Amino acid sequence: MKILLTNDDGVFAPGLSAMAEAALTLSDEVTVVAPSSNRSAASHSLTVESPLRMQRLTGAFPHISQLQGVYSVHGTPVDCIHLAMAECLSERPDLVISGINAGPNLGDDVFYSGTVAAAMTARALGIPAVAVSLNRERALYGEAAKSVIDIIRYFESTLLDSEHLWNINIPAIEKDQLKGWLWTRLGRRHPSEPIVKTQDPRGRTIFWVGAPGEQADAGKGTDFYAIEHGYISISPLKMDLTDYDGLAKLQLMKSPDVEPLV
Ligand code: MN
Repeated sequence: MKILLTNDDGVFAPGLSAMAEAALTLSDEVTVVAPSSNRSAASHSLTVESPLRMQRLTGAFPHISQLQGVYSVHGTPVDCIHLAMAECLSERPDLVISGINAGPNLGDDVFYSGTVAAAMTARALGIPAVAVSLNRERALYGEAAKSVIDIIRYFESTLLDSEHLWNINIPAIEKDQLKGWLWTRLGRRHPSEPIVKTQDPRGRTIFWVGAPGEQADAGKGTDFYAIEHGYISISPLKMDLTDYDGLAKLQLMKSPDVEPLV
């Protein structure tokens, strides 16, 4: 199985190297293409007003000799997917794994997450993809990465046939305390904390984007519920954001002056 790994925390993030190490137990065709710096919350952004620079690393990455290549891209996670396809890989990968992200990507987080966006971009290109996030920034990446590989092995044929991106969130607990996994829908958060207005050391006004909001819809069946109760959460996601109920209602509205096109 040819595997492409990326993330949004940057090529030297511990979650990425842990995922690379675990992926090597599944395949000897693993390539890493990741941003050179932390691009968390980059969502689907592409770099279009400046050139992309890419460097093939020759050391300083764990297990680099067993990997097909490790590339650092001065760009976003979505740039990485496109560059990987165009330049780094000789063949299409069978699977893209994005992560392991430092921190959860639950509910509304998926709209902002670069981790999820990279996997979504792969999925849009027709490549099976998983986004993986660890609930809290704790040194449990190795355990979490092994769980991801367990899931991929167990569901391999389903995953490789799936038309959805699988958004996986892992609770920050020891592997032997995990209760298993649950298929979940996205929950919802309250609005994020307000912008923080402050000053830099030179007295100039600066702003910090506020922290994500607390959970709002976290009931049974949601991703929030699963990880709070010791389960790995797996949510199948698709790109089509159309509100089909809303569309049906709008299409029922009659206009006296305009003939509907369909
Ligand atoms: Mn991140």
